[in-house]
Amino acid sequence: NKQVILKDYVSGFPKESDLNIISSTITLKIPEGSNDVVLLKNLYLSCDPYMRNLMNNPKDSLSSRAFTPQSPLAGYGVSKVLESGHKDYKEGDLVYGVTNWEEYSLIPAAQIIFKIEHTDVPLSYYTGILGTPGLTAYAGFFEVGTPKKGENVFVSAASGAVGQLVGQFAKLHGCYVVGSAGTKEKVDLLKNKFGYDEAFNYKEEPDLNAALKRYFPEGIDIYFENVGGKTLDAVLLNMRIHGRIPVCGMISQYNLTQHEGITNLAHIIYKRIRIQGFIVADFHHLYPKFLEFILPHVREGKAVYVEDIAEGLEKGPAALVGIFSGQNVGKQVLVVARE
Ligand code: NDP
Repeated sequence: NKQVILKDYVSGFPKESDLNIISSTITLKIPEGSNDVVLLKNLYLSCDPYMRNLMNNPKDSLSSRAFTPQSPLAGYGVSKVLESGHKDYKEGDLVYGVTNWEEYSLIPAAQIIFKIEHTDVPLSYYTGILGTPGLTAYAGFFEVGTPKKGENVFVSAASGAVGQLVGQFAKLHGCYVVGSAGTKEKVDLLKNKFGYDEAFNYKEEPDLNAALKRYFPEGIDIYFENVGGKTLDAVLLNMRIHGRIPVCGMISQYNLTQHEGITNLAHIIYKRIRIQGFIVADFHHLYPKFLEFILPHVREGKAVYVEDIAEGLEKGPAALVGIFSGQNVGKQVLVVARE
């Protein structure tokens, strides 16, 4: 059973060499009399920025949860049930939930989030548009952002797993939307594939405040925050009165031992800006409503989704580490097996 393990807690930027591929020879079997575990064959694993936080020593971390050194990573994935010790699942079921970064996993059935019912769409989509990133974009934009038609929306990390959807939702809602991303290829995707009205490469803008003034002469109503740091600081200068900032993530800060200072915070007061952090888990109850909304959009091609596929568990370390330097174009998926 091939596994991707964390060698030791990480400080600073993660490196491929912080992870290791090993083969475990332990035979996985459902313990006799057990009624709450399942044996899974893992198919598609999701590479997510929050996984970096779980590589920290919990002593120095905001999160009380952490990966265990010398054990496999774990995260969201699509798997097939090989053997079930739980009444709700049977052999052959496809499931989405938290599984280990290995070929086969014995996990508590409680880690399964749902059984996959719709298989006429690519299964890998459950790690992205039909899974956590999709629900994050939906709940963050509609519930936290409370958009109104015609409002001005700015999205950072705009071509990623979450960002590419926020842009499309904003357009469907009749907003003006601008995105920032880190390469020309991504900027082209924003404008030509995801329907962003405008897009720019933040790495080529010496003055982010000036860039935002160019795209938003009348200011920003909603900033969907994915990156934090200097981008947030420049955005605060350009927010409109009663603007909203759904704070989804701050990836630019995850690998810094000393976080960047924000100098423009007082704008929150003068402009009565609402900044609200959220965690997608707060909105799991909306998943059925979200699926009802998104599935027809996917089937009719009204919502598109770009994935960056890494083939084989051996590619796991590079795929995961790569999202912290923007190597991924679209949702980073790791394929362990296709069936
Ligand atoms: P992405 O697919 O967008 O991948 C991460 C991207 O972030 C990279 O491709 C890169 O794109 C960009 N990036 C990396 N480092 C920096 C940096 N220093 N400054 C600016 N941009 C950077 O990831 P997701 O869509 O999965 O996640 C986006 C954000 O949403 C993250 O902050 C994540 O933590 C958060 N999130 C929060 C959830 C919640 O429940 N609150 C749930 C899911 C995600 P580029 O080339 O454009 O720089």
